Amino acid sequence: MPLVTLDGASLAFGHVPLLDQANLVIERGERIGLIGRNGTGKSSLVKALMELDSRVQPSVSHTTRAPRGQEKHGREYYFVSDEEFDAMIKAGTFVEWAHVHGRRYGTSRKAIEDRIAQGSDVVLEIDWQGALQIRQLFTNAVLIFILPPSWEELRSRLERRGEDAAEIIELRLKNASEEMAQAQAFDFVIINELFERALFDLKAVVHAQRLKYAAQSRARAEVFQALHITT
Ligand code: 5GP
Repeated sequence: MPLVTLDGASLAFGHVPLLDQANLVIERGERIGLIGRNGTGKSSLVKALMELDSRVQPSVSHTTRAPRGQEKHGREYYFVSDEEFDAMIKAGTFVEWAHVHGRRYGTSRKAIEDRIAQGSDVVLEIDWQGALQIRQLFTNAVLIFILPPSWEELRSRLERRGEDAAEIIELRLKNASEEMAQAQAFDFVIINELFERALFDLKAVVHAQRLKYAAQSRARAEVFQALHITT
């Protein structure tokens, strides 16, 4: 199975000096932005990526929606009231925020900076409006749009998840075509038809960011120096 090779490669990520030093890349503002619709399997993909690659960490957003199922304050989200969210907007806490499905969601500067301070690549699981705001602020952000393979599959994933009431599912489906039209503004598109294939694609994108000239010349400065390459 081709994935065996990939898994091997990404397990090696954390151990080879190349990637230990890649933290420097982050300090200089490289970021990985991730986006997708609910029901695209986005959360499972991010979770699997983080399990394979410990240097990729999520940014925990604030939301005014109520917790679902086993969700914990501070882990999936910081759950706040409308008043608290208003106060945070006023205080300039957010680097981006948006109305999504009738609720508000936002990324605080601190959520990103805390991860960067830990030397992590930051994944933002946010909607398209937020992703486009992030691109304005962080020009190095990489935007990835995760698409479901079909409408039928999107609906059935939302229903199977069993976390949302029927009318919420209808609202999410209604919003979907507008959201999907935004995919053209993104750097990469991953179609989550077969989970393992989509994870392969996601890891390939992350890995490619780390091979960019700017990232490599910082992470492997000693090689560049020894080869007399001045940057
Ligand atoms: P859910 O309520 O299912 O966790 O998320 C609903 C939608 O809100 C998803 O599309 C998710 O990507 C988006 N979302 C989650 N956090 C943020 C955020 O901080 N900012 C923005 N703009 N969207 C977010």
